[in-house]
Amino acid sequence: MTVDVIFFSAHADDTELSCGGTAAKLVKDGLRVGFVELTRGEMGTRGTPETRRREAQQAAKVLGAAFRTQLDFGDGNLRTGREEELQIIALLRRWKPKLVITAYPDDRHPDHTRTGRIVTEASFYAGLKSLKTDLPAHRPQTVLYYLQNYMFTPSFVVDVTATWKTKMRAVASYKSQFHDPKSKEPATFISDPKFLEMIEARGKHFGALIGTAYGEAFVTKQPPKLDDLVGAYAGREVT
Ligand SMILES: [Zn+2]
Repeated sequence: MTVDVIFFSAHADDTELSCGGTAAKLVKDGLRVGFVELTRGEMGTRGTPETRRREAQQAAKVLGAAFRTQLDFGDGNLRTGREEELQIIALLRRWKPKLVITAYPDDRHPDHTRTGRIVTEASFYAGLKSLKTDLPAHRPQTVLYYLQNYMFTPSFVVDVTATWKTKMRAVASYKSQFHDPKSKEPATFISDPKFLEMIEARGKHFGALIGTAYGEAFVTKQPPKLDDLVGAYAGREVT
């Protein structure tokens, strides 16, 4: 069994917050997607790694994932050595994704930066035939980056209007992390109700850039091939 796309993140919930609508859209379009987080989230202020793993599995179910795997590279000091690289290569060769989507390798949180870097490099190395592992070489078509804290000019924006609600239901699976008036745990940046308002606003902002209600932005070093140039701007006006 293989998948079309794998989303790699440092922490469970990074993918949902940044591009959960895109993941749900891919599934809705009949593609198979998988999720891999490189850490167990043990440095999080709220919740335990066990609650976070349960929440992540719940979110994966909401999004319709084919699989979700958690690695243990160390939260708050994410390791990026050869051993870690080989674990990512093993997953790429096992699931043979056409696309890899991960964190932009420059973000406020160093774990995000390191994730973007190691996943990009492993995606290339996984295609080296002379790198012998249990499975044959496989190289994804490209690596796309989602945006987190730092903003970069999007290479393209995906219309996620039809799957925005699914994304937010997946985000809501992380009960220990986000706003819960009954929680006795310490308040954090992301548990403030303003955080989810910001996610909503960002979705609307990126949507506005392409003339839709909601959008999710991506950056890539390899631009996508566009077949319908006129259609890509349908319903919009020069502003
Ligand atoms: Zn994160």
